[in-house]
Amino acid sequence: MHERIYRKDYQASEFLVDSVDLVFELDPAETVVKAKMQLRRNPDGPARGGPLRLHGDELELRSVRLNGTRLDVSQFEADSQSLAIADVPERFQLETEVLIHPAQNTKLMGLYTSSGTFCTQCEAEGFRRITYYLDRPDVMARFTTRIEADRSSYPILLSNGNRVARGDLPNGRHWVQWEDPFRKPSYLFALVAGDLACHEGTFTTSSGREVALEIWVEPANADKCGHALASLKAAMKWDEDRYGLEYDLDIYMIVAVDDFNMGAMENKGLNIFNSKYVLAKPSTATDDDYEGIEGVVAHEYFHNWTGNRVTCRDWFQLTLKEGLTVFRDQEFSADMTSREVQRIKDVTRLRTAQFAEDAGPLAHPIRPESYIEMNNFYTSTVYEKGAEVVRLYQTLLGRDGFRKGLRHYLETHDARAVTCDDFREAMAEANDADLTQLERWYSQAGTPIVHANGVWHESAGAYTLTLSQSQRAMPKETEPRPLTIPICVGLLGANGKDIPGTVRTLELNEPEQTFTFENLPERPILSIGRGFSAPIKLEMKRSHEELAFLMAHDSDPFNRWEAGQELAKRILLGLVARVLEKRPLELDEGLVSAFRKVLSDPSLDGSIKALTLALPSEELLSQELSLVDPDAVHRARGFVIRELGLALRAEWMRTYEQHARGADAIDKAQIGRRRIKNRALRYLVALEAPDTIALAVEQFGAATGMTEYEAAFVSLVDLDSAETDRAIAEFYERWRGEPLVLDKWFRIQAMSGSPLAFDRVVALSKHPDFNLANPNRARSLLYCFAAGNPVAFHRADGRAYRFIADQVVELDAINPQVASRIVSSFNQWKRYEPGRSGLMKAELERIARWPGISKDVSEIVERALER
Ligand SMILES: [Zn+2]
Repeated sequence: MHERIYRKDYQASEFLVDSVDLVFELDPAETVVKAKMQLRRNPDGPARGGPLRLHGDELELRSVRLNGTRLDVSQFEADSQSLAIADVPERFQLETEVLIHPAQNTKLMGLYTSSGTFCTQCEAEGFRRITYYLDRPDVMARFTTRIEADRSSYPILLSNGNRVARGDLPNGRHWVQWEDPFRKPSYLFALVAGDLACHEGTFTTSSGREVALEIWVEPANADKCGHALASLKAAMKWDEDRYGLEYDLDIYMIVAVDDFNMGAMENKGLNIFNSKYVLAKPSTATDDDYEGIEGVVAHEYFHNWTGNRVTCRDWFQLTLKEGLTVFRDQEFSADMTSREVQRIKDVTRLRTAQFAEDAGPLAHPIRPESYIEMNNFYTSTVYEKGAEVVRLYQTLLGRDGFRKGLRHYLETHDARAVTCDDFREAMAEANDADLTQLERWYSQAGTPIVHANGVWHESAGAYTLTLSQSQRAMPKETEPRPLTIPICVGLLGANGKDIPGTVRTLELNEPEQTFTFENLPERPILSIGRGFSAPIKLEMKRSHEELAFLMAHDSDPFNRWEAGQELAKRILLGLVARVLEKRPLELDEGLVSAFRKVLSDPSLDGSIKALTLALPSEELLSQELSLVDPDAVHRARGFVIRELGLALRAEWMRTYEQHARGADAIDKAQIGRRRIKNRALRYLVALEAPDTIALAVEQFGAATGMTEYEAAFVSLVDLDSAETDRAIAEFYERWRGEPLVLDKWFRIQAMSGSPLAFDRVVALSKHPDFNLANPNRARSLLYCFAAGNPVAFHRADGRAYRFIADQVVELDAINPQVASRIVSSFNQWKRYEPGRSGLMKAELERIARWPGISKDVSEIVERALER
């Protein structure tokens, strides 16, 4: 059994590291790592006088020296997982020398090679795969790094901080020395060595310091860095303007690598990125890719303060840096693009991934209580729900209050490793507010449900709103207690405008509370949860007419979209029930007229229009069902798409033609144009009429930008036609040399609604360009299929379950971290009808019994089977 680690067991480290000097003799097959550490007993640690115990993982120890004297094997205990020395003084110097094998490191944690470039990933516990160390975030030390390597293969040698010296060595080798003036935990260590090209820029901080900005990529990609650099400068400026936070080193580097488990990593001064979040030009990247790059570049930059300067005491506190930094990047993106579009995208992501997680076996509070493998807790709950919890502070304290609190938090805790409680206390202290009850958001799992009931008292001219809250009780946990839930509301009059004095933020703190609005001139219509003011599920009786009214008039743009989604969801769920009862399907006229109104509204921008005219996904609809039949959901949704296509055919066609032509520029107007145009195309192509298919074929052939090219391809791949096969072949021929574009080719086929999708995925898993060891490629095909194509993954015969389980087992031996993400697609097995649920359970049990299964995958599988 693998060991479970509990938050309540936290103890300060018995030893501290003041400084560490590293020397890397780089070689892909066998790299020597020498570490010289100054250590001492922690005066605030548990006074046990015990041995020094350093973490390790797959290390080969060559020698240990204590205060300059080489220790013999009787004086320490070492294996590949740890190094223990029983007898150490108060203060001492420890020197170790280990061997590691970067080219064989397929887990992509620690030091590894990606397309010939050396790079590192140390969060959460990867540094112990480089050298023996106190690999925990509350041990912070000053690092120097000397890198030695072959000069012709690795002309560029990078690490954290400032470059202080360089020189030549015999045999065509050279060295560079880096020094990081800031103390940091080991998870922020980084090293890169390779033959890379630099895209340079500079940024002058508000206090007048000039910072060198360097983006390092493979030379062939040098023309795709402009957007990442512009995003970085915008993020640096925004953090100064919004929070008064300046960058603190003279150099800021970003390196793009092709093989990376996550999106990007905020190592001090030397960010390492998945190339997906750096490289872009209009012909290879979509509008969404551009927005993704802007958001991720900003996110990693913002970590310099929220994560690096003030870090986490232990990994249970991960949301302290991630929830906060996701909130910051969401706010940045809202300012850079469009606040309402950003909010809709963020909430949709939260509901799709996090609400599902909260309803499944892996439900955990944003600050988990225990884990077996920390890598499994880089979850949507810790990140996205964590960001919503941070947003609660801003909703309750106001923007200025939040800014004051954040600055107070950073000033009080600079250069320290702290907890979520420290953050909450700093916010409270700076604002003289009582935020005690907010603590429950950190300790309770599950999505809270808020029940709303409004009553109109005609004679008194008053409206009372009763709100009650509940949360599902988690097994093995104490009964959930009421949360602080801010609910932003407004009351609309018959003219569609807010009735003056009714726009408020209600604070729900009790199990049930009633709020009264008085002196109202007329019977109001309630707009509730404006801007998605808390990460809850709302339950309220509302008529289709009321929802259609809000969709047309609500002054809050988020709630206008929300009302449309709610209306569509109710109609779709009604149709799912009819499919199951084998009754004929009929589309509600109300939805057609609501859609027609949106389509013809000239005041709405293209992005909002496109989002409003999108139906809730099959994943979101499935969440509403107690027993999911994916075929019924797919059929009902497909029916509505075709009926809307048919009923509004002329309007879609007009919209398409109006927006057909424009520039490839990545700006708000052109992005909006492309979004509404491509939405119209989807509805038209779904009709499977020769003239509408011809539109997609023409767009696919003529598009010069990736957004329009990809949208046409998506439409064609959903069909089952001669044009589909032609498009698949053409796409491949054109883009086989561009890995990030080829990832799209795999992903779009994996997510296709075509009945052939599963057979295509099986064939693609044997394609010469498929590579299980490359996380982007593995995710594009396998994760996108299992998590993003419900009707094909949940085929009733269980073949897709078996296929994915086989792939998970194979991938687990290469890269457990990516395998455990894919296996979580089985988590919801209990929610499916008995046939599918039994088949999924059988695959989970087969994986659980697999010899040599990693702790990453076994933790997910065991928990899925547990309840
Ligand atoms: Zn982050």
